[in-house]
Amino acid sequence: MATLRLILGDQLNYNHSWFTQKDDAVYVMMEIIPETTYVTHHLQKLLSYLKAMRNFGEYLRTKGYQVIYLKLNDPQNRQSFGDNLLKIIQEYPVTLFEYMEPDEYRLDEVLNSIAEKLPVETRIVGSEHFLTTRFEIREFFEGKKQYLMESFYRYMRKKHRILVSGDQPEGGLWNFDAENRKPWDGKAILPVPMLFENDCTDVYHTLLEKKIPFIGSANPENVCYPLNREQSLQLLQYFITCQLEYFGTYQDAMTVKDKYLFHSRLSFSLNTKMLHPKEVIDAVLDHHYAHPEKIPLSQVEGFIRQILGWREYVRGIYWDQMPGYSQMNHFNHQRPLPRYFWTGDSRMNCIRHCVNQTLETAYAHHIQRLMITGNFMLLAGVDPGEADRWYLGVYIDAIEWVEMPNTRGMSQYADGGIMASKPYVSSANYIHKMSDYCKGCHYSKDLKYGDKACPFNSLYWNFIDRNREPLKTNQRMGMILNLWTKMPAEEKSKILNQAEIYLEEIETL
Ligand code: FAD
Ligand code: SF4
Repeated sequence: MATLRLILGDQLNYNHSWFTQKDDAVYVMMEIIPETTYVTHHLQKLLSYLKAMRNFGEYLRTKGYQVIYLKLNDPQNRQSFGDNLLKIIQEYPVTLFEYMEPDEYRLDEVLNSIAEKLPVETRIVGSEHFLTTRFEIREFFEGKKQYLMESFYRYMRKKHRILVSGDQPEGGLWNFDAENRKPWDGKAILPVPMLFENDCTDVYHTLLEKKIPFIGSANPENVCYPLNREQSLQLLQYFITCQLEYFGTYQDAMTVKDKYLFHSRLSFSLNTKMLHPKEVIDAVLDHHYAHPEKIPLSQVEGFIRQILGWREYVRGIYWDQMPGYSQMNHFNHQRPLPRYFWTGDSRMNCIRHCVNQTLETAYAHHIQRLMITGNFMLLAGVDPGEADRWYLGVYIDAIEWVEMPNTRGMSQYADGGIMASKPYVSSANYIHKMSDYCKGCHYSKDLKYGDKACPFNSLYWNFIDRNREPLKTNQRMGMILNLWTKMPAEEKSKILNQAEIYLEEIETL
């Protein structure tokens, strides 16, 4: 052995150039306790990550590569990257240690420091996954206070020649939002979701043996996420043929009747690198060009914006702003997260539905995360650190580089507007417009005060009132601040009084 190569749990890139030829390299993969406990993870997340890693290790072995795979309960496992690597290097004739660029700041620090101490030469290589470099966004937005996603997205469209002709967007528009984002009216038939049946009992027993804490539920015999490349490709194909047609139209819709609507559920495959973002985009484009009548440009553009735009953008913000980003708290919110975020036991139908779905499946789509759970946390003044820990633990796709900008930046506005041009807050109006949650709710969406008043209503105005100062320079908040200023004093006082009651009794909502 001359070269030892480390593969992290989210670096399951089946097409990495490491695997284009056979050499004498040995690959090391390790399940270690600190990676399973740095937040309390959802059980399905733990099962899926570890099983996908085990599958990847097996795949490499069947392809003839040499693999050292340390399971959580392996007696040889010293439960730290540094100690395990040192032991291997002491036991085998290693002359070079290579690792792929990690995507999390935390792991980057850990591996840099390990690499400095190892008694062999070290080389870091790219993960060959993203369409931008770590700091490309820093160069693109140099000197700007706010990082406008739309301008970055247009730059990406032109740079990668996606849906452009010359320097102009195909179809004459960069953005088809106006045609998209409708509530689901039940007319478009919901596809039966493609759920895999992965047996993860081996991983489950290891988790129990090592007493790894977890939240949420799972059937370890039957884990539904794609846990190897073949399943990831099947899910991509399924999305393209059965869901893409309505993706944009209903991308912001929510309903108690379905968890996934037309969302792809590709985030786990993408974030573990089993799928490459460019191959996802290319597959979507090919299908669109082959069936332009069935798959209109508006749907395709709406989807590509998520991957080529948002996903690369949040990664860029993360690397540009870390490590300070993890401490930002623009509104100085300090409230602990109400306990119903861990149990689902709330009278607010929207919260109950989204939290229970999350606990059952480790999944919620973007608008459920942004406009239900995130919206409520921001209105209630929850500490963004608590918000981060919740989102990082509960979702199947949660890795800090993508979770943190979405939570702290987009959803909690804790970065003071680097990402979002205004706080994403709403009263019951928006939730009612985009969902059927309000129909079966204990609270009334139309009331701002009184026993049955929807908490989102008074908390919304309370948020506007308590943040008048920081928000008054924000042009996009002007109209709503005006409305609040002009509201009769008696009405305002009733609303604020109701908000105070709700905040005091927040655990009972
Ligand atoms: P689809 O709706 O089918 O979208 C397709 C793909 O686009 C996704 O798989 C994802 O890769 C990408 N995408 C869409 N929106 C975003 C976005 N805002 N940021 C980055 N990529 C995006 N996404 C994560 O991958 N991990 C997280 O930990 C995460 N945490 C979030 C926390 C909050 C508070 C919010 C508001 C959003 C978060 N997101 C996160 C973004 C988004 O909600 C998920 O990517 C999406 O719900 C995954 O489901 P899907 O694969 O069905 O997505
Ligand atoms: Fe949520 Fe309020 Fe609607 Fe109930 S009435 S579902 S709490 S928005």
